[in-house]
Amino acid sequence: MDQIGSGLARISYFCRINLVYKLNNNDVKIGILGGGQLGRMLQEQGLEYGIDLYFMDGDPKASCAIFNNYKLGSFKSKEDIIAFGRDKNIVTIEIEHINTEALEDLDRAKVEIVPSVASIKMIKNKAFQKTFYLENNIPTSEFLIVETDKLDEKEVLSWFPLVQKSQTEGYDGKGVVVINDVNDIHKQLRVPSIIEKKVEIKKELAITIAIESNGNVKLFPICEMVFNPELNLVDYVIAPALISVEIEKKVKKIALQLAKCLKTKGIFSIELFLDQNDKVLVNEIAPRAHNSAHYTIEGTNISQFEAQLRILLDLPLPEIHLISPSGMLNLIGEENYQGKPEYKNIEKLADVGQAHIHLYGKRETKPGRKMGHITVLNTDRNKLIEELNYLKTHINVVSNEK
Ligand code: ADP
Repeated sequence: MDQIGSGLARISYFCRINLVYKLNNNDVKIGILGGGQLGRMLQEQGLEYGIDLYFMDGDPKASCAIFNNYKLGSFKSKEDIIAFGRDKNIVTIEIEHINTEALEDLDRAKVEIVPSVASIKMIKNKAFQKTFYLENNIPTSEFLIVETDKLDEKEVLSWFPLVQKSQTEGYDGKGVVVINDVNDIHKQLRVPSIIEKKVEIKKELAITIAIESNGNVKLFPICEMVFNPELNLVDYVIAPALISVEIEKKVKKIALQLAKCLKTKGIFSIELFLDQNDKVLVNEIAPRAHNSAHYTIEGTNISQFEAQLRILLDLPLPEIHLISPSGMLNLIGEENYQGKPEYKNIEKLADVGQAHIHLYGKRETKPGRKMGHITVLNTDRNKLIEELNYLKTHINVVSNEK
């Protein structure tokens, strides 16, 4: 008993040393590549921990441009990333489409890169990602890697209906096309791509995993995603997902398996398909905080952003649980409006008991642009959906600079 007791004391003693080093060191400098809404919400957590983060982004009007430590630079440029990162203790990302050669150089120069450069390199290319799943026995839809910028009609004949995805640079459904049959072949993307069998999707699910410095893994609740079919964007997210215990077990098993194979600390979001035969397939992963877990700011005992910050600081995480069934509604720029945003009918928020708004401070709305989100908490799932639909039909992002 005594031995166990003293062992635990020793472990927590080491944690404290670490904590003093990273959190109480005024010089700890954490750099974020990307200055959009994810960085902004991470900085909100930073304020609670008394930490000013450093940002680099190419957009002078980005969500993080209001912060003192905001630097203009391209995350495609090796020189810009190195110039930004070399005086930081830790560098992390808000977007995976970045120059990873620069990250390798920083890593060699003893700047801590979170998550590992290897995991970012694997995820930023969908062909590498799918190969990673195959090699690690992670269930995913069947795929074929196409290195040319034209599909071979004969080769893809047996794949219809198929989904073609550009290997790199895709996001929010851009770089993804569905090709149902040969008549659709003109829709093909003219870039190196992967093609996948089109899955008969019953539900789209997501789970965020937090991998701590000591390798412990904490799982966020499984949520389900409802899509806007026109924009291919998530319209709202509901947690918990309405799935059987069996499916929940399958998803968690895959999440833990992935955490083990990734071999790095960090926050990862896993998007999955549940097909008509109740098979669970990994669609893709993101090496960072993600839209599908924004509900965790109010919906769970620790948010994805706080978990991310704690991981960066080597601070431990509690077990994660839902505080209440939650729904997250994206506020997306309406079609036909571009310019200074106007949040129409925003006062309707007051009609919903537990609605929390997060506007990203973007100075310009564009069709399909993510401008903010609203999280709603309600113990009654049906009422929760009603409230989400109410807010979705009333609140719109437009502009009077039509
Ligand atoms: P992005 O990286 O742009 O988010 P995704 O790979 O997540 O792209 O694809 C966007 C959406 O397209 C998915 O959420 C899903 O609705 C649909 N989709 C993608 N792959 C498939 C597939 N193999 N079968 C059926 N639908 C798919």
